[in-house]
Amino acid sequence: MIQKGPSHVAPSIADQLDRSRFPIDEWALTEKNLNSTTLGLTETLFSVGNGYLGMRGNVEEGRDSHTHGTFINGFHETWSIQHAEEAFGFARVGQTIVNAPDAKVIRLYVDDEPLLISVADLLEYDRTLDFRDGVLRREILWRTPSGKRVRISSQRMVSFAQRHLAVMTFEVTLLDDYAPVAISSQILNRQDGEDEYHVRSKAMGEGADPRKAEELGHRVLIPQSNWGDVDQGRVTLGYQCAESGMTIAVAADHRLETDNAFTQRAQTGDDLAKMTYRINAQPGQPIRLTKLVSYHTSRGVPSRELLDRCQRTLDRAHEEGVEQQFADQHEWLDGFWERSDVEIAGQPEVQQAVRWNLFQIAQAAARAEGTGISAKGVSGSGYGGHYFWDSEVYVLPFLIYTTPRTARNALRFRYTLLDAARRRARQLAQNGALFPWRTINGEEASAYYAAGTAQYHIDADISFAFSKYVAATGDIDFLTREGIDVLVGTARMWVDLGFWRNEEDGVFHIHGVTGPDEYTTVVNDNLFTNVMARFNLRHAARAVQELAERDGIQYEQLLTRLDLDLSEVEAWEKAADDMAIPFDEHMGVHPQDQHFLEREVWDLKNTPLEKRPLMLHYHPLVIYRFQVLKQADVVLALFLQGNHFTAEEKRANFEYYDPITTGDSTLSAVVQSIIAAEVGYHDLALRYFNAALFVDLADRHGNTTDGVHVASTGGVWNALVSGFGGFRDHDGEFTIDPRLPESWESLVYRITIQGTRVRVKVRPDVLELEVEDGDSANFSVRGEMITVTADQPISVPLDGQGPRLEGEPPPVPGRIRADGSTIAAIVPGS
Ligand code: BGC
Repeated sequence: MIQKGPSHVAPSIADQLDRSRFPIDEWALTEKNLNSTTLGLTETLFSVGNGYLGMRGNVEEGRDSHTHGTFINGFHETWSIQHAEEAFGFARVGQTIVNAPDAKVIRLYVDDEPLLISVADLLEYDRTLDFRDGVLRREILWRTPSGKRVRISSQRMVSFAQRHLAVMTFEVTLLDDYAPVAISSQILNRQDGEDEYHVRSKAMGEGADPRKAEELGHRVLIPQSNWGDVDQGRVTLGYQCAESGMTIAVAADHRLETDNAFTQRAQTGDDLAKMTYRINAQPGQPIRLTKLVSYHTSRGVPSRELLDRCQRTLDRAHEEGVEQQFADQHEWLDGFWERSDVEIAGQPEVQQAVRWNLFQIAQAAARAEGTGISAKGVSGSGYGGHYFWDSEVYVLPFLIYTTPRTARNALRFRYTLLDAARRRARQLAQNGALFPWRTINGEEASAYYAAGTAQYHIDADISFAFSKYVAATGDIDFLTREGIDVLVGTARMWVDLGFWRNEEDGVFHIHGVTGPDEYTTVVNDNLFTNVMARFNLRHAARAVQELAERDGIQYEQLLTRLDLDLSEVEAWEKAADDMAIPFDEHMGVHPQDQHFLEREVWDLKNTPLEKRPLMLHYHPLVIYRFQVLKQADVVLALFLQGNHFTAEEKRANFEYYDPITTGDSTLSAVVQSIIAAEVGYHDLALRYFNAALFVDLADRHGNTTDGVHVASTGGVWNALVSGFGGFRDHDGEFTIDPRLPESWESLVYRITIQGTRVRVKVRPDVLELEVEDGDSANFSVRGEMITVTADQPISVPLDGQGPRLEGEPPPVPGRIRADGSTIAAIVPGS
């Protein structure tokens, strides 16, 4: 693993994995030897999921683990948040993803000795997650204590094609000698993180790290049913969550194939359902167990009904056959890569990491359907399984341009939360709709309002994603029927939250909000919030006006449905036109907020490494006092609203904010990479990209064990396509102005616009566009309008790759403010 450096310094561009353990393979992640000290990390890296169901890469035998985990997106327990000091409107309903009963467990005994992978004498070991066929495979050769060699080959797959299905195979062959073999295949409910050996899961509620899930004090899963049929090899369990009332059923089917003699038994109880096989195993006679598993969950349907659903899923999978499930998985992924692959020639280690990241987005989002996309997908319990702005700003761009149907599902999910958002707005004394900063069920779950609820920008982020989706797909019908209600609700919130101080001033201010950077909170006129709110207001107004022109009947229905008055629309436009955009003429930068530049700078260079990340070592008040950023804020605005800033402004802002950005959030490096590339810091752009690319693979933030950083994986795509690839989509115009790194021969990405998929290839001196599917698409390449059609690929000569700036931006301390004072650098407490 890599040497971790201070996170505000972008790492050097180097391969970050130990290649003797994780060899380079452009289509797979392979682990060549087992290291028990990094189990938590590899459980995340080798997790499999489909956006609904996720299984961490726990070993089959169940015993050796850092954190067991089987997660169903949105399956959560609620609890009452106890604030030490109460105040009106504080979040009340805690929501935490529940560790579902674990169907991964397959225990093996040879001569009555258990296989315990961490202490076993392993002659061979290989574990591979294949990005092309979506199967996790493990091959081991074990020498038992009595000296018998046993080959064990297993596979695990969570189906993309069948949302509720997981498939496992477990094959055991004795190589040398006869032995009695026992296999116990289980569905084990570990009672909320505590394992069967009474060891608490290491990822739950430890210490003061806000990124972990809460530990729940009560028994969460109340048994409802258990049932088994030995002849069918089917065992089932059903539960209801004590507080949220959500229900779950899980069923597993087994089939053992062998020429050896064997007996089988089914046993079920409250927390365990298992099939046990006793086999007289002869050398060279394989024993193959196939396990099909189905999970169904609901907000309240009785678990026995869910069991019926599980049975139907399993019956169907049986009829189709196991091989068909593997074939369907492969086919699904063929389609995924056809639409979404990004290729970097001549850089196999980068290519491998890129594909791992893209594969994670599929695993987090593909079959989320009706739920959100959580910060960790279904790979871990970090952040309690909550949905944040991560989905709209970091993940949806990828989905919109590669798999719009999945993007639409994610947006529809937000639409279903609109009533809750309206209620929340009223609680906070606002009109319109205010989406919660973090949630599963639509209620605000952020107990720390300063860095949570105060991030009103989530309203604009959601509207931004709706608008982007509609522009990219042309799905006007979705806008008319549902999307427009979100745009109107959020616009109403903004116009009510902000205010004109006085008529002459003519400036619309938004006070008391927090921007994306959580190291500065509850401020006035946060630049990011204001430019995004402006976008939100304008797009809501435009959507209403265009609907009036397009469809009189729908328009009338909208006015009635939302009790909308046209004077409101005018007020949105005026607020947008008058929006306060903080700018400091003297320093030539956009202050992050009205008072930001008045603060001193946190001296990051002289802050000891043990004190990073800052949020785990300093009280928030200490951090809030300084110019120091957890993550890109103004710089993110330069990307999302880039058409409203000049090239000079972008460079000046990047140079100011980059040195004071810690990157303590993994949401930062990707954005820093994009703007570094745009303004010309080409080497720095690649270094930030590299940092983001290996966030999880090299555990750069030390908490990958809690789950994949899904926003960062989406950000990796953005950094490739928008950063180096130079793609932008402001106001429905699709532009390309590439920034290929000097060390890259070429970069290929795919963009689907209104049903036409275009392959974009960037080379140092030419840009090639080719329609892969569909008819035609229009782009502006460095100002020149291009139409690419199915029968005519286009090459556009490139005169270089944009501006070139060497090194890093100069430090901020020492710069002089407008009032003549000098910005100082301080390490608090030193
Ligand atoms: C970031 C947020 C993000 C959250 C979940 C935090 O560390 O500051 O912007 O939404 O993680 O990924």
